[in-house]
Amino acid sequence: MSKIAQFRIAHLYPRLMNLYGDRGNLICIQKRLQWYGHDCIIEPINLHESLDYSAYDMLFMGGGSAQEQRLASKDWLRQADDLWAELEKGLPALCICGAFQFLGSYYEAADSQKLKGLGFFDLYTIYEPDRLIGNIVIASQLTEETTTVVGFENHSGRTYLHDDTLQPFGTVLEGFGNNGQDGQEGLRYKNLIGTYLHGPLLPKNPVVADFFIHAMAERQGITISGTLNDRLEDFAHRQTKQRILND
Ligand code: GLN
Repeated sequence: MSKIAQFRIAHLYPRLMNLYGDRGNLICIQKRLQWYGHDCIIEPINLHESLDYSAYDMLFMGGGSAQEQRLASKDWLRQADDLWAELEKGLPALCICGAFQFLGSYYEAADSQKLKGLGFFDLYTIYEPDRLIGNIVIASQLTEETTTVVGFENHSGRTYLHDDTLQPFGTVLEGFGNNGQDGQEGLRYKNLIGTYLHGPLLPKNPVVADFFIHAMAERQGITISGTLNDRLEDFAHRQTKQRILND
């Protein structure tokens, strides 16, 4: 029997950035790690707290409204250099909607004010009054095989990957994606995924959950042995996908 590993996940600004049940993603990762025979703790990180990014196995931040985004983005900027150093070393991170928008140079809000982003990637977001809402299916190259990812999006911001060497999380099969125009959804860089797919994305996309789990394990120099019985998860994925694509 292999040794039990301990994993530590930072949940950034859970009081501000947690729309549509985004937190469900953390419950999913924690549960799956336990089913694989390991331990996982989730630590909330709130405004004005400093964190040692190198001490975590993964970061997670959900979406939030413009007002909450304003508070969180300002705070997050304080430790941007430390965070970038860890992301470059392969720190797994999932950033949803408002959190994804922070990764770029700016978010131009409804009042035309520009919220400064972390500036990690040459992408930007501009508010438009009509929201892009609905179910979405994308095709992603996350693993060696192309995989479909199903979810729900609800955003007024339009994100543009300005640098065409940036890799999106996937291409849109049905739905809007980053801006409703170029067929791109989200961003993938090493073990970081930024995406507009809100709510509990990982329970119905176990391939994405396991992508993070394997990346976390690799950083600790261990391998996750065994596989989980994903019959129910795969069924939920297939049903959701068929319903969205045939609608
Ligand atoms: N700025 C975001 C948007 O474009 C805020 C909402 C979110 O995170 N879902 O709508």
